Amino acid sequence: MTETKATCCYCGVGCGVLIQSDGQQVLGVRGDPDHPANFGRLCSKGSTLHLSAQPLLQQQVRALYPEMRSSRGQARQRSDWDSCLDSMARRFADTIREHGPDSVGFYVSGQLLTEDYYVFNKLAKGLIGTNNIDSNSRLCMSSAVAGYKQTLGADAPPACYEDIDLAQVIFIVGSNTAYAHPILYRRIEDARKNNPELKVIVVDPRRTDTAREADLFLAILPGTDVALFNGMLHLCLWEDLVDTAYIAAHTEGFAELKQTVRSYTPAFVAQTCGIQEADLLLAARWFGQSKATLSLYCQGLNQSSSGTAKNAALINLHLATHQIAKPGAGPFSLTGQPNAMGGREVGGMANLMSGHRDLANPEHRAEVAALWGVDAVPALPGKTAVELFEAVRQGQIKLLWIVCTNPAQSMPEQNLIREALNKAELVIVQEAYSSTATVPYADILLPASTWAEKSGTVTNSERRISRVNAAIAAPGEARADWQIATAFARKLEKYLDKPSTIFPYESPEQVWNEHRESTRGRDLDITGLSYQLLEQQGPQQWPYPTGASSGKQRLYQDGVFATANGRAKFVNTPYLPVAETVDPRHPFSLNTGRLRDQWHGMSRTGSVAQLFSHVAEPSINMAAQDMQRRFLKNGDLVHVTNKRGSQIFAVSESDELRPGQSFIAMHWGEEYVSGRGHAGTASTGVNALTSSALDPSSKQPELKHAAVKILKAELP
Ligand code: SF4
Repeated sequence: MTETKATCCYCGVGCGVLIQSDGQQVLGVRGDPDHPANFGRLCSKGSTLHLSAQPLLQQQVRALYPEMRSSRGQARQRSDWDSCLDSMARRFADTIREHGPDSVGFYVSGQLLTEDYYVFNKLAKGLIGTNNIDSNSRLCMSSAVAGYKQTLGADAPPACYEDIDLAQVIFIVGSNTAYAHPILYRRIEDARKNNPELKVIVVDPRRTDTAREADLFLAILPGTDVALFNGMLHLCLWEDLVDTAYIAAHTEGFAELKQTVRSYTPAFVAQTCGIQEADLLLAARWFGQSKATLSLYCQGLNQSSSGTAKNAALINLHLATHQIAKPGAGPFSLTGQPNAMGGREVGGMANLMSGHRDLANPEHRAEVAALWGVDAVPALPGKTAVELFEAVRQGQIKLLWIVCTNPAQSMPEQNLIREALNKAELVIVQEAYSSTATVPYADILLPASTWAEKSGTVTNSERRISRVNAAIAAPGEARADWQIATAFARKLEKYLDKPSTIFPYESPEQVWNEHRESTRGRDLDITGLSYQLLEQQGPQQWPYPTGASSGKQRLYQDGVFATANGRAKFVNTPYLPVAETVDPRHPFSLNTGRLRDQWHGMSRTGSVAQLFSHVAEPSINMAAQDMQRRFLKNGDLVHVTNKRGSQIFAVSESDELRPGQSFIAMHWGEEYVSGRGHAGTASTGVNALTSSALDPSSKQPELKHAAVKILKAELP
């Protein structure tokens, strides 16, 4: 048996794993004791990774061979790589000639390795000449990206995991860390044991398992985070807890913000957020008085129609109180997916560019064009996730290539997404699993390799790059994602009459070396790193420029931010309510989120029986008071309805929620509902109901709130 170093393919903590194998099959997995993200620990999901990779299971759930159908309505038939890629390249070339480069689109994933992301980004923006490439990270992190860029000047979390050990106050907002980032939560528990003075504040509409353990829990009403942060800043000003010298020396824009937060009085904020004034004051005092306050935040801030403002308002609070750029302090956005950070580094989204460059900057575009050996890269931002599918639905985007993600379950407002998938002239799905809700829409299915079968790199939440190594060969004819993109690109180059290839890659290392060069001189410069160094010295944080002997744990400690003039910017953030307020016809706020033992649409965790011991079935959680009023008892079926759709769920009482609130886990889709005997209801899980109202800056949809009505289902 050998042990191969890799990382867990679930959340953004990025735990190191050792894959135990005989070279043919995965036999076991254990936490890598040398990996600085987890020091050998794994959560329930990571420690069962090997169970999802058993050969028998692989034959049942994996996409094993390329498949293609001759026309819509026909079943896909087994094909071969050359025929599929050739057919795709011809269709792309013809469509681009006839309708222009923006008539095609790519929807990729934070599950991809950095090398995969890099090649797809270059294919879209460099070869084809469209910025219509977006990622499921849009549903996850784009508000955090916009928040960091607007305030600190770069998409770079300034803190690190060690800050959890050093903080005096940990302010957890919109994150059920105990479930979504379990190994980081273990670290918080350790920090509390080691430092009895440590205070943990949790802000969440739900009394989650994370909130139950808090020293102070603020159960704010959905979407009122900005009012809370502005109110805390108001009180920090009142209590003289702002650092005026730091503000004067290193920031700009405070006067306008000060004017705005003047009206966020404790009475107004307490009423808006549905909390006690005394708790608000305590939170502001703990935050501002502590020697080091660390904020940890995730989808509760990001998945919102005011997600960017929420991020910026929290960063405002850190800047004003100088709770940033020092050990144990800072606004630390936790990434949801294992390589959302790597995707951002290569610019694999519709509004980003390689090496954190700016799409609107002609010099930056010219730099990337020169690096790629193309005449130009397009200036106009492409369509972001929701916009991309809408453009498909409207017939503007005709060919859609979906890579390693499951939009027919995970995107909001499913009726529109499925209409788009039906309307597209060609849908290509590149997937490891044949069982996802998106696969039936594929005209061409390309089998991809996955965890334990792939080599490359990933970057976790604290900017730490880890090598990922393959332990076994992929089953059937599955190939690495970067290989598929490279093979296609070379064919497309021929059909577009390009004289030579700009995709010379024969290994992931060759791809990564080109990516590394794209970061030279940028805030995330990794030119001092190599595959060899990462293997010999272990995972490293960026930046790590040429000549460095280590990466940077914390950013901006010299007081110079990544903005043009080096000053951090306060963003004026007036509070705006959720896009879809509840009304008498739709009186419940519907929240969505993760369970402890499942991951996304369950394509992997759904095949591991023991991961259902925590929660076996989906349900809608409601407060006891609401259930009593509607004569509902646990297990009763209810219709959950709004203008976008209607779904049937079993109801279950929860003491996590206030009256008027409800919660459905994001993981279950139509397979479950069909299994319960409700086939034919066009059920698509909770995203039949969620809203695609977008944050104006980040274009992230408001997945954390929709107004719904809940009525007992009358069964025949
Ligand atoms: Fe995997 Fe995240 Fe669990 Fe670590 S905490 S083992 S990365 S799911």
